[in-house]
Amino acid sequence: DKTRDQVKRRHSPSAFFIYLYRDLRLTTRVLITGAAGFLGSHLTDALLAEGCSVVGVDNLCTGSLENLKHLQSESRFEFQEHDICFPFDFGKVDYVFNFASPASPEDYGRLGIETLEVGSSGTRNVLELAHKYQAKFLHASTSECYGDPTVHPQTEDYWGNVNPIGPRSVYDEAKRFSEALVMAYHRYRKVDTRLARIFNTYGPRLQANDGRVISNFMMQALQGQDLTVYGTGSQTRSFCYVSDEVDGFLRLSRSPEHFPVNIGNPNEWTILDCAQAVLRVTGSRSRIVFHSLPVDDPAQRQPDIARARQLLGWEPKIDLETGLRLSLEYFRSSLVPQPQTQTQ
Ligand code: NAD
Ligand code: UDP
Repeated sequence: DKTRDQVKRRHSPSAFFIYLYRDLRLTTRVLITGAAGFLGSHLTDALLAEGCSVVGVDNLCTGSLENLKHLQSESRFEFQEHDICFPFDFGKVDYVFNFASPASPEDYGRLGIETLEVGSSGTRNVLELAHKYQAKFLHASTSECYGDPTVHPQTEDYWGNVNPIGPRSVYDEAKRFSEALVMAYHRYRKVDTRLARIFNTYGPRLQANDGRVISNFMMQALQGQDLTVYGTGSQTRSFCYVSDEVDGFLRLSRSPEHFPVNIGNPNEWTILDCAQAVLRVTGSRSRIVFHSLPVDDPAQRQPDIARARQLLGWEPKIDLETGLRLSLEYFRSSLVPQPQTQTQ
């Protein structure tokens, strides 16, 4: 009787359309490169929650399976360990999100050649796949395309100020090349592409040891260590909480816009003020100390999000101190030493 009731409900006209709509959602198969990383794993969660099935590809060079552990028994998720710089094909997909790349200055400083590779041949392999299956494509680009900007705040039509041979160039130029590649696949091969220029994002699953400012400050504060401000701390960044950022990606993925869109929180902070915010949120009595400023460290960064507001109706909601509070538990749990495997 219960089944008959369900069938009856399913065949009433409005229920039928709801069913059809859900079924369409369920058949959307999405490929996410960099799925074991910070942003890729949150995007995976968001797309699964929308009813999609997800194939996550990652070579684990900076990401971790820990970020996907909660999906172990999720039948709509499959993980493929693979380096996207080598061609691959895990079956037909309808949408591709290309998020694979080392992202923190420490990671791309260590993996310079790999970063150039993933932005060039890696991204090309993924675009070829999107072309083959006529899948839509969204690429994770970056505010680093603007380099050390002379225009403030940064609008998408600013071409940037990048040192092409400095230590950051492996990342900045890889991302600028990948933007050119994405536009070329759009223009010459008619791939339906999108470019998200992502500004500094933080939240749970941001690698605790990748040297980025939020992870460094949070981990230092929680351990009572000195907070290491580079330079005078007068340089600025604008920090976006991860759920806001992912909401921006989803909105952009549904939009027909092919030109770059800044996705970031426009609230600009000096690094010194950011250190003080971390001390307030953690209640830590750590001291602030000053270290030398890395070469080519951008002096200021703030997204102009007029295009995102207008095209996507998107606006971040979570301010820095709220976001830091929401991340506190994650950073605390990252302090717990992992159990050691016994060796003979
Ligand atoms: P992350 O290091 O946590 O994630 C990147 C993932 O890509 C990792 O899991 C890594 O193992 C994987 N990867 C790298 N090279 C690969 C390869 N050749 N093949 C397969 N997998 C590979 O970094 P994130 O912060 O999540 O960044 C994700 C994307 O967003 C990157 O493309 C990054 O450039 C971009 N982005 C991030 C930020 C930010 O603030 N988090 C800002 C701007 C742009
Ligand atoms: N920074 C800092 N102390 C740290 C780590 C970073 O003062 O322990 C500064 C860094 O010099 C830069 C800013 O914080 O000015 C943001 O650095 P991050 O590596 O997070 O990202 P970036 O925006 O430079 O890619």
